[in-house]
Amino acid sequence: MAFIINPARAQKLAANLAAVRSRMAKACARAGRDPESVRLVAVSKFHPASDVLALANAGQREFAESYVQEALLKQDELMGEDVLWHFVGGLQTKKAKAVAGRFVLVHSVDSEKLAVELARRAADQGVLQSVLIEVNMGEEQKAGVDEAELPGLAELVMSLREDGVGLDLQGLMCLPPMFDAPEEARLYFTRLRELRDELSASLGVALPHLSMGMTGDFEAAIEEGATIIRVGTSIFGPRPQKR
Ligand SMILES: *Cc1c(COP(=O)(O)O)cnc(C)c1O
Repeated sequence: MAFIINPARAQKLAANLAAVRSRMAKACARAGRDPESVRLVAVSKFHPASDVLALANAGQREFAESYVQEALLKQDELMGEDVLWHFVGGLQTKKAKAVAGRFVLVHSVDSEKLAVELARRAADQGVLQSVLIEVNMGEEQKAGVDEAELPGLAELVMSLREDGVGLDLQGLMCLPPMFDAPEEARLYFTRLRELRDELSASLGVALPHLSMGMTGDFEAAIEEGATIIRVGTSIFGPRPQKR
């Protein structure tokens, strides 16, 4: 598909991207981490495919969406482009079929029902779907599995891999209850890392990924061990109203 990319917009996006990358590098340096150990996923929800393409032209490869219908539309619009898609939004079990096999990583597995259905749909397509389990880190949150139920869900997800198809559990994701308060969010990032370490030890598997940190708090997340940060506003600017 051909897009008309506004050159001023493309320049702005490239500059925003460079600024985020530079902040990431500084946070990595502070934490004594290899910059290659943190992946930047650009959250493009509510922003047009032309913005994604402009960022791809500026070297950004990984993008994320939160709504299934919008995500699939954008994927179709950008078919054949060198981009990878993540799914980071709340996922209803009935939408598992549409998602399986179409995203490099689904960050938001938070129930046994969803895990079973996603595994079944992935198996139907003969693919191994990489997933993270989303952990609920505060009372006012609806998404995510409670800490107490995390070990059980993790064990189930691990059992849903058979002959190279089903689900591949790669780690944990969280969305802390407060925004724009990096020092408060940090406590949740530390907790998610501890949960991952405990789980990894008890299950005897590597769970390499921690998806945590957004526009308001990604530097704190990197300092606490994030391997994937999900950044929207700092790259794209404020989100327009949903179409
Ligand atoms: C929208 C969204 C983001 C990006 O948020 P910003 O604050 O704009 O960086 C990250 N993660 C999830 C799950 C989101 O829904």
